[in-house]
Amino acid sequence: MSYVITLTTLDGKQIDFTCKSEQTLQDAAEAAGFFLPAVCKAGSCGTCLGRCTQGDYHLDNYNPSLLSENAREHGDVLLCCTHPDSDLQLTAPYKASQIRSGKDTPRTAEIVSIELIAERTMRLVLQLLPDQQRGVTFEFESGQFVELDVFELNLKRAYSMSNTPNLEGRLEFLIRLQPQGKFSTYLQHTAQIGYRLKVSAASGNFGVQEQSLSPRCFVAGGTGLAPFLSILQRMVDRGEDHPTQLFLGVNNEQEIFCQQELATLKQAIPHLQVEICVWQPSDTWTGFRGTPVDALRAYLASIELLPDVFLCGPPLLVEAATQVAIDAGVNSERIFCERFA
Ligand SMILES: Cc1cc2nc3c(=O)[nH]c(=O)nc-3n(C[C@H](O)[C@H](O)[C@H](O)COP(=O)(O)OP(=O)(O)OC[C@H]3O[C@@H](n4cnc5c(N)ncnc54)[C@H](O)[C@@H]3O)c2cc1C
Repeated sequence: MSYVITLTTLDGKQIDFTCKSEQTLQDAAEAAGFFLPAVCKAGSCGTCLGRCTQGDYHLDNYNPSLLSENAREHGDVLLCCTHPDSDLQLTAPYKASQIRSGKDTPRTAEIVSIELIAERTMRLVLQLLPDQQRGVTFEFESGQFVELDVFELNLKRAYSMSNTPNLEGRLEFLIRLQPQGKFSTYLQHTAQIGYRLKVSAASGNFGVQEQSLSPRCFVAGGTGLAPFLSILQRMVDRGEDHPTQLFLGVNNEQEIFCQQELATLKQAIPHLQVEICVWQPSDTWTGFRGTPVDALRAYLASIELLPDVFLCGPPLLVEAATQVAIDAGVNSERIFCERFA
């Protein structure tokens, strides 16, 4: 059986394609020439999220931490593992400009800096090599991510830029080293200045997309800080002084990073408050003791005007913080998530 799928983007554009019941929505869209944002295409990263507003469907196996029961009840699906059982109407959480009409041509970049900046956290800086059409220009929005591809190892992983778009073609990343993780091992034992990687086009719709009068609350689990650094720097560049609370969660004091960058941002954005949350601190730690989810709960209970809530980091943290925000009365439409799955 073949069904008609209608996908409406955040800016109200509509695309139609057909999908056979044995195809996934993601594959069918690509076959029709619509390259929707996606990374793993195996139900484990959550970048192909959409919402089904009409019709019947079923999903293949996926990482359950990416779609809560509540989200499933609202029709949230991962397009890479959804099959239609009828014609479907869907909404996408991104604008039409994020749908490419052809396969991405990855760029080549060279490692110009790689350093351990805290326990299990690396800063990686890449310099794009010029290509004929674009020079070193690389378009992205604060909050977006790219896929880095170590082509000789056939190893691709998604990472969010921690810097802002610039004319020099420089891309900066904050990367958590995972035990036995393949990309983590590459960074620790193989990567060197001068080594080359492929960089996909920027993707994702995380970030402050629209002007809302509500205060902003950013919750970062570890290197989930990366997109927030970019977003905050963009606020500085635009002279925005929107009331903003940032919670950064780490396990212990040795994992704290980017203190200098945060201090500089605080100076430039007078209404920015930063709280470092240490889950298992030493006796001498005088700051917040607990997770950023605990800090978010206490913060939401203490304020009158509920903020727009932006969450980034491990899926379990994003899930727990989403629940806390919903319980405190934040409308689910005002909760924005990026899961480092
Ligand atoms: C949109 C997006 C943006 C992201 N941005 C960032 C970012 O800015 N910074 C960042 O640090 N991360 C980010 N991530 C996460 C990143 O893409 C990688 O998933 C992460 O760096 C781990 O990659 P790895 O290759 O080192 O580990 P992997 O090899 O993928 O392994 C991950 C973990 O799983 C464990 N593991 C692997 N195989 C098995 C197995 N068979 N059984 C049990 N355990 C296993 C490993 O020990 C490791 O702890 C992002 C992810 C997404 C989807």
